[in-house]
Order: sequence, then structure tokens, then C-alpha cells
Amino acid sequence: MSRKILVTSALPYANGSIHLGHLVEYIQTDIWVRFQKMQGHTVHYVCADDTHGTPIMLRAEKEGITPKELIANVHKEHNADFKEFLVEFDNFWSTDSDENEELSKSIYLKLKANGKIATKTIEQFYDPVKNMFLPDRFIKGECPKCHAKDQYGDSCEVCGSTYSPTELINAYSAVSGAAPVRKETEHYFFKLSECEDFLKEWTRSEAIKGKPTLQGEAANKMGEWFENGLNDWDISRDAPYFGFEIPDAPGKYFYVWLDAPIGYMASFKKLCADKGLDFDEYWSKDSKTELYHFIGKDILYFHALFWPATLEYSGYRKPTQIFAHGFLTVNGEKMSKSRGTFITARSYLEHVKNPEYLRYYYAAKLNGTMEDIDLNLEDFVARVNSDLVGKYINIASRTAGFINKHFDGKLVEGKDYSLLQRLFDDNFTSFRPLSIWKCYEERDFSRAIRYVMDLADQANKVIAELKPWDIAKDSSRLDELHRVCSLAINFFYLLSIYLKPVLPRVVDDVAKLLNLPKLSWPELDAAAVSTLLLPEGHKINSYEHLITRIDNKQIEAMVEANKESLQAIQTPAPQAKQEAASEASYISIDDFTKVNLVIAKIVNAEHVEGAEKLLKLTLDIGEAAPRQVFAGIKSAYDPAILIGRLTVMVANLAPRKMKFGMSEGMVLAASDESGRPFILSPDSGAQPGMKVK
Ligand SMILES: [Zn+2]
Repeated sequence: MSRKILVTSALPYANGSIHLGHLVEYIQTDIWVRFQKMQGHTVHYVCADDTHGTPIMLRAEKEGITPKELIANVHKEHNADFKEFLVEFDNFWSTDSDENEELSKSIYLKLKANGKIATKTIEQFYDPVKNMFLPDRFIKGECPKCHAKDQYGDSCEVCGSTYSPTELINAYSAVSGAAPVRKETEHYFFKLSECEDFLKEWTRSEAIKGKPTLQGEAANKMGEWFENGLNDWDISRDAPYFGFEIPDAPGKYFYVWLDAPIGYMASFKKLCADKGLDFDEYWSKDSKTELYHFIGKDILYFHALFWPATLEYSGYRKPTQIFAHGFLTVNGEKMSKSRGTFITARSYLEHVKNPEYLRYYYAAKLNGTMEDIDLNLEDFVARVNSDLVGKYINIASRTAGFINKHFDGKLVEGKDYSLLQRLFDDNFTSFRPLSIWKCYEERDFSRAIRYVMDLADQANKVIAELKPWDIAKDSSRLDELHRVCSLAINFFYLLSIYLKPVLPRVVDDVAKLLNLPKLSWPELDAAAVSTLLLPEGHKINSYEHLITRIDNKQIEAMVEANKESLQAIQTPAPQAKQEAASEASYISIDDFTKVNLVIAKIVNAEHVEGAEKLLKLTLDIGEAAPRQVFAGIKSAYDPAILIGRLTVMVANLAPRKMKFGMSEGMVLAASDESGRPFILSPDSGAQPGMKVK
């Protein structure tokens, strides 16, 4: 039965690049969509850039462009990244679109007509210099619990406590540095507290029998929120704000999270206009179509509470299911810029190039739950090389050549009772295709991959026993060679079908090799699978390389390029560094004495606004005026504990102009493999200015 399905991935925010963490979601969704399309269903996959809000407005201002220019640039970049990772949206749109403005305003007006909008006067922090209200993230100050300086308005990165910005000590605006004042303002609220009964039921519902709307884990999480009671949701922001103005409320704008999910509808609306589809068939209250949202577990609150409530009280259908997934870790840890594991999509493409390696690896890890998945870079290389190249591609690379060379590319019906035939019969009766189908349907891609690789493994073993390369040496056994290799090619053909959602480009090349227009999913019964066999006399094309192995060096280069290390900040460009390293490993004493190492006293240390890694150090080395040095040690040191300490610096390094000012030297630090710095200390008694030699 053909289904009508609308699928979305969460909208990427338009103030940054797509990174490997984002791709967990887009690749996952794309695999599922490609699988559903292969089943012959009507599937529309839409997404958009999430473009509104204060961060976009401020970043555009910093770059000296308009917010619209900023989001147009980012849209171009995101679009290119998705295309190259073979994420095939049917429409990739923007929340700053006419469709979204119209839908957001009409949904708001329907909510208002249904009595779900209220206004309340609240007190907020206001930047008197910038003349704007400040979101929590743009207020900084001293943590009320542990007194760490420069903490954000909503939570402390040092002790982890959360609080409201009004509790911060000595708060200041991260935009202008001014002390914020408290100011009253009228805000618009969506009365979420009145939606509790509806939401309690909906979050435990099944739109399709046996398919819960939320994963069990997610429904339980919602249950915890219900226990605390739902608060009304503040959906307005004051000018200046980049977004849509609220109807009949001049100077008030929709909060970005109101119009972001409506962006799913807007993107689909644009697709409807382009393709002549019926919008209402997918969004009306009584719609019979299916609607699925793939999201990260961090935005469940918005998608499983605000969004269905918004839809319910503005007269639209609700999602069929919401699929939440976990976060990405790299080498078992949070992605980190200092370790070089905060990797952008673009950087991956530059160094590793082939997007299907990553698609395969993610597929091999994803199981449809909210668990985090780990990209272990060593395992990544090993797995791609052993599974994709060593098992799967190997079946074709060791047999297709014989078909081309001895039989003019023509296959023979492989029916004999060889081991390979038995393997084929055992596995491609209804059991396996059904299992693999089920794994994909339930987003348990890791299991599907295990099935397929297990089959590839067994096929290789059988081929190794039959030894076509030996048979080929004996001209009296050509028939046997023909049968074995034909069967192997059929086997490879079937495995390729099952891998197609994950490896669309490789499998397109396989279709060319097999001289087929495209590879389609087999029907779910054994008879159909056997008719799938390439017929007697079918001619294949000559074998060309399908996938190459990854070299560890590509990974190393990628990690290196993403490392914002101490060295990268303070020493010459990496190219110069490499040249130096390749020269002889000894230096003369003269070389060493060129470096003027001195004891330095840290007389002041402070954070640098806008710098993620740097501390600004003021160093006394016995000269008339202290030196200013920027050191990439913020991740490991609280400035307060550095003040008064002695350390070692290079005093004759050429001064370097950095974004934040001149750096007049370099302090020395050791670092562990994670990049965590350890600065040096002399024994007690050392004085500022003493030479280290
Ligand atoms: Zn704290």
C-alpha cells in the first residue's frame, strides 16, 4: 500500500556552519527518506534555515551586513554542505520567507481567537547603551553560587548551577559592556498551562496503532515536565529584533521559536506551489497523511509540547511521530575545538572527501533511540576499510573482472548447488529482506548494516573457498568459473539494493556496472527475489573502482586543521611548522640561546571578550613596562588563580598583532593529548626577569 509521508529534519540555525554533529540528524533522516522512496511511497522531505533572533541580528551588525544578507550567505553555504553529503531535501527553504510570515501570523491570530494568547507586563534586563532588551545569553556577570566571573545569565559554566539573570552579581551586557538596568515591558504569552490535558494525552498517544507518537524515553521526559506544571510560553520579543512583527502589536516580534517549527509548514507550502501539491492534504486537521519530525533530544520540549499545542489550537493536524536522537561524541568525548574534533562539514569534505564513509559509519551506529553516538576516528577508518572496501566491494572487485575478460561481460544463470548458491537461497528467501526492511522502517540502521555485512562476510568466505582465480587458470573449468562469478555478481547486486539508502552514489555506480537503470527494493517474498536475479545473458559493464580505502593521514590532517591549539594561536602557520619538523632533529647550542627565556610574574590575567580560548596576561619580566601576552589557556585556568604566579616566557618572540591586540611574547605550557595546557612554574626564589638557560 502506497503511503503519503512528509518528513522534516530540525532547522539549522543560520549563524554557524554545519558540523559533524548536525549531520547525525540529516544523514539519518535522509537514509530513512531514501528507504521510504525506494518502497514506492510518496515522500516529501523538507527543511529550512532557522533565521531569526538576536544572535543573527548582532552577528550581522558585527560583520557590517544586514541580517538578510547574512542569512542569504549562510543559506548558500548550508545548501552546498547538504548537497555534498547527499542529503536530498525536496525543499530547503528559510524561516524568513513570505510563506512563513503568512503562516506564522495566521496561526497566531487563530490562537488568539481561541483565547490562547495573553499579555503580561514583565521586568527584563535592558542595555541602556544599545537600547535593547537582553536575552539571558547576552547578560554576563558573577555566578551567585560559586562567584566565578563572566558567567552567562542562565547558567554557570564553572559550577553548573542554573539561575535567572537577575541573580547575577555585577551583571553586564555582553553586547556593550554596560550595566543593564531593569525595565518593564509587555510580553505576549501562549497559554500553555491550559493545554496540559491535551498534551498529557497526546504525548502518550499512538497516531498509528503500535507506533507511539513519542519514544518511551521521550514520553517519560515529558511526564517529568508535567509534574512541575507547564508555564505559559513567552512568545514575544521587543524591537530591535530580527523576525516577524506580531499583528496589531507594533514593536513586538515573534520569538524565534514560535516561527521556527512553522518553518516546516512554510517550506512544504513552497514545495506545494512549485510541484502543484495539495497543502491541506498534509496539514488539515483530518489529514490522512503521515508527518514525521526528526530532532535532537535537546529540542524535545519545543517539538513535543509547544508545537503540538500550537497546531491543536490553530486547527491543524499533529505529527504522526517524533523521532528524537542523541548527540554526537567524537572519540568518546564532547566535540572539542582544542582537540580538533569540532569538525565542520566543509572541513570533512576537504580532507576525507567521500561523504559516504560518514553516511555508512553513522548508519552503522544509529539504532533509533535517544542514545548518544560516538564517532571514534580510529574505528571509523577501520570500519570503512574493512566493511565497505574489504567485504562489500570485494565481492565485485574479485569476480566482475572474470565476467568481462572471459565471457564478454555476459552473465550465466548461476543455478548450481555450490556453497554460494546455498548461501543465496538461504538468505534471500523472505526472511532476510523482511528483516532488513523492518530495521530500516524502525530506524534501526545499525542492525540493517549488521545483516548486510554479515552476508557480505559469508559470501566472501564462500568465494574464497571456491577460488575463482584458481578455476580461471584451468581452461576446462570455464563453465564453473562463469557460474560462480555470475552468482557472486547477483549476490553483490542484492547487497547493493540493501545499502542504497545509505550509499546512494556508490550504488548508482553499481547500477552502471550492472548495466541497470537503477536498483529498486525487492518485493517481500522469495519468489520475487528470485525473479530479481539478473537474467541469463545479461551483459554487465567493465569493473571500475567503486570505493577507495581511507588513509589515516586524511583523518590526522582533518583533526590537525580543526585544532585551535596553543601553538596555532602563538606560533607561525602550520606550513612553516611542518618544514621545521622535517629538518634534522638536533639543534646547536647557538640555536637554543637565540631563544630568550625569562621568568615572568603574572601581574594580571583576564578574559578577553569574544575570545573562546584566550586569556590576556600582563607579565612583569623586570622591564620598565609589563608585557601583554595572549595565551590559549582559558579552558584550563581561571584568571583569578593565575594572578601573582611566576612562569616562563619567550621574551624575544616577534610581537604579533592579534584580533584582540598585540601579543608581546609567549608563555610556555605543556599539553596532554586532549590539548589541555599546563603552564610552567619555577622553583620558589626565582625573580621576574631571570634568564632561563
Ligand atoms: Zn558557579
